[in-house]
Parts: sequence; C-alpha cells; structure tokens
Amino acid sequence: MAQLLTTLSQSSLQDYHDCPRRFELRYLQQLAYPAVEAEPALENEKHQQEGEYFHRLAQQYFIGIPAERIAKLANTENLQRWWENFISDKSLPNLQNSKSLMAETTLSAPLGKFRLVAKYDLIAVEKDKVTIYDWKTYRKRPKNEWALIRWQTRVYRALLAKAGAHLNDGNPFAPEQIEMIYWYADFPSDPARFAYTAEQHKRDWDALTKLAVEIESAPSFPMTDELARCNYCAYRSYCARGIRAGESDEAEVETEAQEFFDINFEQIGEIAF
Ligand code: SF4
Repeated sequence: MAQLLTTLSQSSLQDYHDCPRRFELRYLQQLAYPAVEAEPALENEKHQQEGEYFHRLAQQYFIGIPAERIAKLANTENLQRWWENFISDKSLPNLQNSKSLMAETTLSAPLGKFRLVAKYDLIAVEKDKVTIYDWKTYRKRPKNEWALIRWQTRVYRALLAKAGAHLNDGNPFAPEQIEMIYWYADFPSDPARFAYTAEQHKRDWDALTKLAVEIESAPSFPMTDELARCNYCAYRSYCARGIRAGESDEAEVETEAQEFFDINFEQIGEIAF
C-alpha cells in the first residue's frame, strides 16, 4: 500500500519512527481521528487552534502588515502574550532587514520513489547564512536534546541544503551556512538553535534515503512496543490501546500539529529532479 503514497514529510516520518501502525492509519489509510489526542480535550483543541492562528499572525508580519494592525487580531490571552513576546524580541523584527525573507514557504526534493516535502514558517537569507525559524507554542519547553533528534530538525535543514538553491541566486546553501531556530512563544528568551555541517547533512540524507526505501518495501506496519506513545495517540481505539487520553501539556511535544495535509502543493518552490 505504501506504493500509493507519493510524498513524505517530517510529520509522516516522525509518525513512522514513533509507530509504523500510526503512519499506516494516518497516511496510507488516511483515517480520520477517532479519539482525542489529549485531555482536557476542549482546552487542548483551543490551544492548538491558537497556535495555528499565531503562525498566521507571524506570517502576516513578515509579509509587511503593520504590527499595530496584527496586534488587534491577537484577541485571546494566549495570543496576546505570544504576540507581545514576539514583537518584544528584537531579533525577530530585525529580520526584516534580511536580504530576503520567505514566510510559509514550501520546499521539495525527490527522495527515492517519494518526494520529500516541508513547509517552513520562515526562511531568512542573509549575506553568508540562512536561518530557518519555526514557531512553537508549547506549554513546556522541550529539551534541546529532544528537539535535535526530531525528524523536523533533520528534514528541514537537509531539505534546505538540497533544494534551496533558488533562494540563493541559484547556488545551493552549504550546510555550514544553515541554522535552525525553534522560537518558543512562551519562552522567548530561550530559543533552541541548531547549526549544521556537511557531515550531518550526509548522515541525514543517507538516513532519509534508507527510510524511504524501508517504507516503500515495508511488508507490514507494526504497532509500537512503547505503550506510553499510545496515551497521546488519536488511533487508540483501532489498536485496543486504551480509552483515556493523556494530559495535554505532556502530549503536545509528542503529538505535533499535523502539517502534512496543510501543504499547498502549488506553493512548492523547488523540485530538484
Ligand atoms: S494507539 Fe499506539 S499502537 Fe496504535 S497507532 Fe497509536 S501509537 Fe500506534
């Protein structure tokens, strides 16, 4: 069935890594979520929606809409606080002096029989470097060690090195020019920063290529042995892995908002065949 799948993303790869069965249910069978991911359900859903809305506010800011106008749209307690943190962090508004800024941009490159696709919150190109920004509205700040090994961190840097030449006057970015920053809206003075090297890039691309082959030829998609992962999984009822959801502040770093289906394929900037 994996032959019917044409694209891979950081979300689908993370799901495959965390639980092949979840990958199968979400991306191959494309089943709707039968259960809430975390409790309390309503509060968690509201927090997720606010997080998505904050992304839109940041995007509007970087396409040039005046901050005062955007501030009026930050109409909940969380949004107001995040927006205030965002606009007070001098490093972010200063980005507007960058050589070029791409908000909500999508890159893609072939990966085995698939296309690897990623949607970036912001890519800031300066003279000798390029920075990937990703906005996170987690209630708890995750450890850097955790973020470093997430597929998002590996895919976003690797794909920019592989398919970002059109953002740099036709020249591919050297891995050493790339940095990725997770900017935590509730912890603005403590972003996570990850540099990149040619060695890491080779390791990441080799691992991605291997994973693509594995997914393409997988005879089955077994359930994870780590039962704790099921606490925050919306597919619990398909697997008879519990009824009650885990607590939301623990869950949100485990269950990223699913970005894959939000990707507008007409926006894909570069397909490096
Ligand atoms: S409930 Fe557990 S086994 Fe089933 S898809 Fe979710 S994580 Fe995998």
